[in-house]
This record gives sequence, structure tokens and C-alpha cells, in this order.
Amino acid sequence: MEISSVGYGSYPEILLLNSNFKPGDRFLKIVLEVHKKDVKFLGDFGETYRSLTRLFPSIKRHQCCHDSLYAEKIRTRGGVPIKEADIYANIAHLIEHIIIDLIANISGLSSVSGVTCGYLRPISRHDIFVECPRKKLALFAANLALEVMENLGNGTVQKNRVKKLTKLAKIIENDYRKRFTAGEIADRVGCSRDEAQHLLNHYRRLSKARGK
Ligand SMILES: [Zn+2]
Repeated sequence: MEISSVGYGSYPEILLLNSNFKPGDRFLKIVLEVHKKDVKFLGDFGETYRSLTRLFPSIKRHQCCHDSLYAEKIRTRGGVPIKEADIYANIAHLIEHIIIDLIANISGLSSVSGVTCGYLRPISRHDIFVECPRKKLALFAANLALEVMENLGNGTVQKNRVKKLTKLAKIIENDYRKRFTAGEIADRVGCSRDEAQHLLNHYRRLSKARGK
């Protein structure tokens, strides 16, 4: 999967799509292309969802307002609160929820809303919008969400790494004008200076726009 374009700003045309959206809200917008091979690896919605809840337990508390012609079923087995649609939309929709979860946890906001809109042609393409107070945080959340989904597909996801990256993002978000050193991050995250430097480099890569 890939992000083929990324934007940040206000999108008045989507305000009607979710009753939690308010005029003046700023949104991350990504255009996500889901490839056939992603469907092959991530096609089992229930399994993928359960793996995600092990990484991001608060996803289970999300309220899903996703309203699509195709989203008819709600999976209740295993406490799945997210509506299931077609296979491409499922993957895009789960990415939306990871982004929401990351933004809410890192920013401390009590409510973050989003919407996923699928294209009729090609069906593999989706616009995902998520409320976010800062562009850098929006980019970080989108890129990390994608990385996690890709790693989940090939079995290389590292729970500890994701946890530490999220912790680092939270530290930076709370004091985003400050430039942290690896030593400070090591103390706050509880890791070696070497690992802190790797985390900082990874964070900076993820906080930049990816895609064309
Ligand atoms: Zn949803």
C-alpha cells in the first residue's frame, strides 16, 4: 500500500460526512492506494483487527460512525466495534482507525474523528481524513499507521518499537518547540542513548510527507 498524496488543512466539503466534524477543524488528508498483495496478506478482517488491538488496545473503545453503502455488517465477535465493508475498504478503514488512535493518544485529545471515502474506480483508492491539531503529528501518525500495517502483513511488526516511538512522539508533542537530544530522550523513554538516536531518526523520517 502507499500514500499517493498527502494534505493538511480544512476541507469544508467533508464536514457533512461525520457529525463530529466542525467548521474550522484541521484535517490530515491522505490518498491511500491499497495493492492486491496487501489484500492477500491482510484480507482476514477479524484476524488483522485482533492483531491491531494487541498493538493499540484503545482501538477497542473507538466508536465507529463509518457509514457506507457496503458497511452493513458489524462484527461483534471478539469485541470488534468496527464496521466491515469490502476488502479494500476494510484495510483503508483500519488505517483510518490506527491514525485516529495514534493522534488521540499522542495529543491527549479526548475525541478525534475521521472518515474514509472509497473511489468507485479504482476501488483500491481511498481518501482518508482525520482531525489533527498539528501537521507534523498528522504525518507521523499516517506514516506509522502505514508502516505498522505493512509490517503486520509480512510478520515483522515490533510491538516494543511502536510503543517507544509513540512515547517519543508524545514527549515531542508536549514540547514541540524544543529540540531534544538523544540523551534526554534516552532518560525519558528508558532506553540507551544509541537506541534513542535510532528512535529520533525514525521519528523524523515518519514526520515528513511520504508519497508523490
Ligand atoms: Zn470507522
